[in-house]
Amino acid sequence: MKTKSSAPGPGKVPPPITLSYTRPHAGCRRAILNSTKCGYLRGTMPEIRKDYATDTWVLFSAARSRRPGAFRNAKSSTPKEECPFCVGHESMTPPEVLAYREGGSRDGPGWRIRCVPNLFPAIASTGEVHHHAEGLFVRVDGVGAHEIIVETPEHDARLASLAETQIAEVLRSYRDRYRALAADPRIKYVLVFKNHGERAGASLSHPHSQLIATPIVPLRILDELEGVRTHRATAAASCLYCDVVASERKAGQRLVAENERFIALAPYAARFPFETWILPKDHAGAFDSIRDSDRGLLAQLLKDILGRLDRILDDPSFNYYIHTAPSDNNQAPFHWHLEITPHLTETAGFERGSGFYINPVVPEDAAAILRGEVRWSDRAH
Ligand SMILES: [Zn+2]
Ligand SMILES: [Zn+2]
Ligand SMILES: [Zn+2]
Repeated sequence: MKTKSSAPGPGKVPPPITLSYTRPHAGCRRAILNSTKCGYLRGTMPEIRKDYATDTWVLFSAARSRRPGAFRNAKSSTPKEECPFCVGHESMTPPEVLAYREGGSRDGPGWRIRCVPNLFPAIASTGEVHHHAEGLFVRVDGVGAHEIIVETPEHDARLASLAETQIAEVLRSYRDRYRALAADPRIKYVLVFKNHGERAGASLSHPHSQLIATPIVPLRILDELEGVRTHRATAAASCLYCDVVASERKAGQRLVAENERFIALAPYAARFPFETWILPKDHAGAFDSIRDSDRGLLAQLLKDILGRLDRILDDPSFNYYIHTAPSDNNQAPFHWHLEITPHLTETAGFERGSGFYINPVVPEDAAAILRGEVRWSDRAH
């Protein structure tokens, strides 16, 4: 049978689509248009819709579908020439909202850390937040912020390989942007997070973190807040996470490392293999209350843990994110912490259907391996 000349023949692999950050490839846009057939949200305000029954919210954003890598696997590393986060390419991003500089001028070289709005934001930065409820259809305008924090000018670095002083500066930028956004009365929560590696959702390899500020508090934070409140109502009448720190230190087998101010542990019900949390040992509700003198100690422990994951698991893809008190109520009983979740397994039907997780590595083993007491291959199967 004759095939159209435009169709790839046997053994003829079509060239991969390459996209520039600023101008998505026309083919990609076409593919998305063909696949969705409908431009309901195109060019309009993103919206956040609530599940019929639960407090699960879904952010619908047409802008996200235009970013490089949307709906396809990202390349393992971005070429320097095309990298919008590299020194000299500042014009490829929106104007900076924060930069720590050795010299140079705004939106030019000379920075050590640079924060910019995401060119393909999941959420709009202007507009008012209205709640809409039409019968069962509950939604909120998708107003907030979506920002990128470029952690270093070094394209090929990894966060774990940066100097502790530079990681402490990254943490300072998290705090500074957190404070600036949390002051906006439309914002209810600011999630600081990092995607490292393709499996974790990073579409550009230059080391960067992100934050998304939302006009509603995410379900996972609500669930944790509820757990803290319930625990305070018990006879213990104490902070749940302060008790977690004390109980896990006493038990010992899930501890990974600690210093004077912070502790790293594999949580008792870890959802993912090698999931590791870092918590302040002394009670602290909100992340942005972190003292400058403690930032260095947090940087030290974060570098230590990311370095162990990198060495032992051969640079796994991972996410981390900071859970803190909601920004409109930082007096809410909470105890901030940072959760690191490597991507070593896939979630599938059972997880999607139940909200359960299946984890093939018990946290006691993961902690022993990360402490260096047991080799990954020696673990009893
Ligand atoms: Zn770069
Ligand atoms: Zn506490
Ligand atoms: Zn948490």
